[in-house]
Amino acid sequence: MNVVDIQLFSSQCNANSSAVNVRVVFDEDLSDLMPYLNATQKRCQYYPQYPAARFVLDGHWVLVRGDAVSGFVYEDEESAREGGRKLGAFLRAFDASRDSIEPDATPFDPPSVMEVFKSLPRRPACRDCGFPSCMAFAAAVAREEAQPWDCPWMEEDGATA
Ligand code: SF4
Repeated sequence: MNVVDIQLFSSQCNANSSAVNVRVVFDEDLSDLMPYLNATQKRCQYYPQYPAARFVLDGHWVLVRGDAVSGFVYEDEESAREGGRKLGAFLRAFDASRDSIEPDATPFDPPSVMEVFKSLPRRPACRDCGFPSCMAFAAAVAREEAQPWDCPWMEEDGATA
């Protein structure tokens, strides 16, 4: 399992946002790793229907999906690149040690609208998720029409999911 690319990207809906995100692309699909991450990682949310796994690592939300892992909300490009290098190294080491882990395939239990809403940072006039308000986004997540990771600000503002 090898890293083939590290890509930086910013929030798509807010041109004024200065936060930088990073995507680390591997040479293979990462879906097999998700139940092992679910068993071990802080605040892991496993979504076998996509499939995807989301958890917190070094203070940043991390999303594993397909052949890539993304880390969200770094303060500048340099810290995002360094975060990407750490993410790549973490997943490679994790993959090498997974035989010692009992996997957990339990799906994340979808929260209610209010549970999602309370977990959001509720930034005024933000709309980085593509919805007009945090409540509209929370309702979409509860209906499974949006994914929790479409709000990139949770960790920065100290909220929990
Ligand atoms: S849910 Fe997140 S991205 Fe969407 S408006 Fe609220 S703070 Fe902004």
